Amino acid sequence: MIRNPKPIYITLFVSFVLSILVSTCLLLVEKISLATLLLTFVLIFVFSFLLFFYSLEYFIYRKIKLIYKTIHSLKTQKYDAKLSNYSLLNDPITNMNKEVINWARDQKEQLDELKKLAEFRKEFLGNVSHELKTPIFNIQGYIHTLIDGAIDDPEVNIRFLQKAAKSADRLSDLVADLLAISQLESGELHMEMERFDINAMVKDVYEQLEVRAKDKGISLIIKEGCNKPFYVYADRYRIRQVVVNLVINAVKYGSEFGTTTAAYYDMDKNILIEIADNGEGIEQEHLPRIFERFYRIDKSRTRESGGGGTGLGLAIVKHIIEAHNQTINVRSTVGKGTTFGFTLKKGAGN
Ligand code: ADP
Repeated sequence: MIRNPKPIYITLFVSFVLSILVSTCLLLVEKISLATLLLTFVLIFVFSFLLFFYSLEYFIYRKIKLIYKTIHSLKTQKYDAKLSNYSLLNDPITNMNKEVINWARDQKEQLDELKKLAEFRKEFLGNVSHELKTPIFNIQGYIHTLIDGAIDDPEVNIRFLQKAAKSADRLSDLVADLLAISQLESGELHMEMERFDINAMVKDVYEQLEVRAKDKGISLIIKEGCNKPFYVYADRYRIRQVVVNLVINAVKYGSEFGTTTAAYYDMDKNILIEIADNGEGIEQEHLPRIFERFYRIDKSRTRESGGGGTGLGLAIVKHIIEAHNQTINVRSTVGKGTTFGFTLKKGAGN
């Protein structure tokens, strides 16, 4: 038995069986010559073949062809030239089966992707609302307490105002980071590529964050042998944001009286930039997730460790580096420290 016979074979087989049957009946009923028998056989064969073939074509395969065409146009959004090859001489049912399976698989993949996106959106919205809620409630609380009389209490009034201001700053940081993320993810990112010295930029960021580092007794240093110009070709404004976020984290999660060290390595076509701290480190199980939005290893620890991050810093960093078609990685040893490294295209003059 042939599996999935082509329609032409089915028609040939049925016509052949029918011709034999009719010829045998005729031979039994009437005595006819061999020539008449052969002629009858051939006539019945040809007639039944044409009848079956065109019946199949008109009543079944035309309808299949229509479905086939619909699926094709749904898949490709246009008429496919392959359809013109459609014929009963081929095997339209098997072909259509393949098409339907492929189409169903594509649809399932798209559906899974959409479900994932919907889930992701829901989670993101939940996270955003949760993050916004805390500073807004704090500001509300302090202001209402002040209005209700605390404004006249010299013991607390300034302190409450300072706390409300700190929450307002946090709110502003969060909104700025959310705007940055949405801009980076919208894909409408316009890169202003230029050549600049990454070491000069790191030193500039060090100056900006000096007070914050001093509060924790952390020294901001450049690795020995690296304190010279390293030219890269990148978007200066966005890379500054990367360096700021990494240095802020190194200070925030670094040990008191520790160090934050920047180092640069010439890697043929790229420059590898590393920002290392000697803080508490990150356990291996968290490493693959720290670049996710709002992912925090220890939420209470983060909030306590001054400034209370938005949980978006590393997600922004990763987006920016990937928009440069470069890579970022992290290695960490618990109790010893963490090193973030990213590459940038080398600029002329190194
Ligand atoms: P956050 O605003 O909370 O700092 P990030 O996206 O910058 O958010 O970082 C995500 C999480 O990764 C942080 O909450 C922290 O737990 C961890 N992390 C980031 N940088 C470091 C580091 N240098 N040392 C230890 N943990 C870090």
